[in-house]
This record gives sequence, C-alpha cells and structure tokens, in this order.
Amino acid sequence: MSATDEKIRLGVSTCLLGEPVRYNGGHKLDRWLRDVLGKYVEFVPVCPEVECGLGVPRETLRLVGDPAAPRLVTTRTGVDHTERMTRWAERRVRELENENLCGYVFKANSPSSGMERIKVYNDKGVPTKKGVGVFARIFMEHFPLLPVEDEGRLHDDAIRENFIERVFTLKRWREACEPRCARGKLVGFHTRHKLLILSHSPKHATAMGRLVAHAKEMSPIELRETYEAQLMEALRLKATVRKHVNVLQHAMGYFRRDLTADEKQELIEVIGDYRRCHVPLIVPVTLLNHYVRKYDQPWLKDQAYLLPHPTELQLRNHV
Ligand code: SF4
Repeated sequence: MSATDEKIRLGVSTCLLGEPVRYNGGHKLDRWLRDVLGKYVEFVPVCPEVECGLGVPRETLRLVGDPAAPRLVTTRTGVDHTERMTRWAERRVRELENENLCGYVFKANSPSSGMERIKVYNDKGVPTKKGVGVFARIFMEHFPLLPVEDEGRLHDDAIRENFIERVFTLKRWREACEPRCARGKLVGFHTRHKLLILSHSPKHATAMGRLVAHAKEMSPIELRETYEAQLMEALRLKATVRKHVNVLQHAMGYFRRDLTADEKQELIEVIGDYRRCHVPLIVPVTLLNHYVRKYDQPWLKDQAYLLPHPTELQLRNHV
C-alpha cells in the first residue's frame, strides 16, 4: 500500500484507547483521541510495560537517580527493569520504522511513556519533575522530527492545533514524496504550503524558499532530508495571532483587483476583530475561503493554510 492510500498512522500509548493495560488492569481512555481524532487516523498502539513482559496486574514503577539517565524500578520492591525496558524499546522503535507513523501521542506522567516532566526520585525519596519516560526517550531520540505530544498537553487548544497541523502536513509531505521525491513535486508542495509555513515562522519561510530555489544544487536525498527537517522545525514554532494577521493580510493582497470596496472593508474588519481576539481564526479564514471560491483565485485555492486539517476537528475555533 502506498502512503497516499493509507490513513494517517499515529502511534499512541495503548491505555489512552481504553485498553485495560495499566498496572491495576485499568485504562486511561481519552475520548477525544478515540472518538474524534480516531475518525481520521489509524492508531498504532504501544504499551511499553506490557510489551516488555511485565504483565497485568503488575507492581507500579518509578524513575530514580539521575534525571538525565534515571533507572526504572518497581516502587515497593525496588526491582530494576531499566535493562529489560531499554532492550525492548530499542527493538520496538526499529519495528516502528515500518509503520509510517506521522506522529505519536504519549501518556502523560508515566515513567515509561511520559515525554516530559516525569517525576524522578532521589535517594531520599524526594521527586523532581525533570525526567522522561524510558520508552519515550528512546522513541524521541530515534524519530527526532516526528510530531509528539502527550494527552494532557493536547487539552490546550493551541498545542492541539499545532500538533494536528504538523501531523497532517507530514502526511501530505510523505504523499508528495511518493514514490520518490522529484524536485518538481517538492516545488509543488512548497508552493502549496507557503502561507502555512509563514504562519509559523517567517524566518523558515525565507530559508526554505532559498532552499527550493537552489534545489538543483543538491542530491534528491539530501534535498528531501534538509527540506523535511526545516519543515518540521518551522511547524513546531507557535503560530501566533501576529503571524496569522500577517498571513491573512498577505492573502488579502491576492484579491487586489477582485474585491469590491465593501468586501475589502469587511475582510479588513474581520481581520481586525481577530487581531483583537474578539473572534477565532476560523472567522477570517472562512471569509477568505468564501472569496477564494467566489473569485476562483488560483494561487490561494491551493494553499494548505486555508484548510490544513478537517474542519470537523474544530481546531481554529478558539480565541
Ligand atoms: S502509560 Fe504506557 S506503559 Fe503505562 S499502561 Fe499506558 S501505555 Fe502502558
């Protein structure tokens, strides 16, 4: 199956899908993940503690020692499972290379699956929240460009929007590179994503424009890797209100000859309302989309910025 035919594939901590894999036989079902996002993605569940052989039920685990390289030990009896988990995780991430993942959602606060601020206990039993779960660390080192988040952080509207945007963009990028990343395809992808990249990082937009302009000077593999790294780095940066306003005004410039005086005034007012945080981003974007259809604006109608992910996910609806 080609990347184009596949649904987006997302790694996920198994317990977030409602599977009873936690230490006590419980789960941590996240309904938004399963019921809303689940319509658009195919999950690849991973439970490090069960898959490395610890079973259900099991004694709880915690991280101890040096926060930069902690040990994974059982809470009551102190059995050290660091080697077992590390050996399994190193094998599992190599298997996951074949899953064509576009992102991963970790379970927050887990000594195995947590991606940040995990408690690490010192020899006096005092915790500091500076650790990373053993599997999460190995995964993120193995796939440094892949979008990752935990379900706790995804409750924040802006973080959720940023994560989903990166996941859907990575999928479109993979599709553009099928079956191989010819220079023409890369130029086409970049053209479609100019406004989206600009909304995250004007600096990257300029650098990536230069990269595409000099595409012929690089080997296809080097070009693909460099572009992908810059794309993922750019989209990780927060798309602020100021950056969005800049993009919306830039887009408005494409209608210079089309809009009536009233339509132009309405668009200016709606962008102003958004800048003052009186309306969510979806309002000016919807109006822009309306004019794009009305005037059949050829460059804008291909811009991923105007529909970077399904509207049903309601990601641009917050102020
Ligand atoms: S947090 Fe990770 S290790 Fe713990 S039950 Fe969930 S998937 Fe398994």
